[in-house]
Amino acid sequence: MVGEYRGTMIIGRVGLDSSSRIAFQSHAHSDHFVSGEVIFSTRATKHLSHLRKGGFYRETEFGKTFYLGDYKAKLYPAGHMLGSAGIKIWLENGTLFYTGDTKWYKLRTAEKSRFPRADFLVIEATFGVPVFTFPSPREAEKKLVAFVEEALDRGRRPTLYVNQTGKAQEVMKILEVHGYTVRPSRTMLKVARVYTKFGIRFGNVDKDGDVVLRSYRSPRVENSLSPWELMVSGFGGLKLSNHADFWELMKIVEKVKPEKIFTVYGFADEFAKILGGLGYEARPIGRDQVLPKS
Ligand SMILES: [Zn+2]
Repeated sequence: MVGEYRGTMIIGRVGLDSSSRIAFQSHAHSDHFVSGEVIFSTRATKHLSHLRKGGFYRETEFGKTFYLGDYKAKLYPAGHMLGSAGIKIWLENGTLFYTGDTKWYKLRTAEKSRFPRADFLVIEATFGVPVFTFPSPREAEKKLVAFVEEALDRGRRPTLYVNQTGKAQEVMKILEVHGYTVRPSRTMLKVARVYTKFGIRFGNVDKDGDVVLRSYRSPRVENSLSPWELMVSGFGGLKLSNHADFWELMKIVEKVKPEKIFTVYGFADEFAKILGGLGYEARPIGRDQVLPKS
């Protein structure tokens, strides 16, 4: 999500969510798509990406050491969507952990995130300011169900606007758990079929479903929504987010205990300043950034 502030992160000749001959792709959102001769990713990320793009993907498993070019590396579940991964890399002068897009709290359709210790931390800052304080996924879920119930009680069909990859499947699963049928878009269904290959089934798809799921639009659309329509996003009316909010990002920082922090995406400048104020050595990184490797 949030493609405008795209960092290009290269270490040696290896790209982190950046195109390079050898590249690592953290997850299957299109603003993280990369090209390269070899793209390292999880198996789920490979299958989900192949719905939209080609490319030679080398599958890697969580927790297993592998070599990303010259560097020893290991993937950790990022909790952002199915297959999303952070990566720890052993450099000459210490270890680096790149979060990709990440979530501290467990979502129903994503693996539980894990964060290792590392000397350098490259952390996403999509919601890197304290104004972004989200309810826990379970609280957000209650609000979602209350909204759906209210609409149905009044004889209206609720419509939810969601990102078609990841968020749509999370919402489908939540509604299934609470006994509602859904009418997703064709794209959402295609993505859901890949989730099913990885054991996440959806038994509530119905072409006359209780709840209509539509593709996420820009936050500006929010003003023109009817009372029975809701944007499910950290930027929307219902803050069920698959990104860490500010406080979750702080928990990640405390867990990784880095000596130096680099912030990327979204509120990278602001988050780095806040971290600086808290005594961390932090700076934002932007386009065409070559990370220090020695
Ligand atoms: Zn993402």
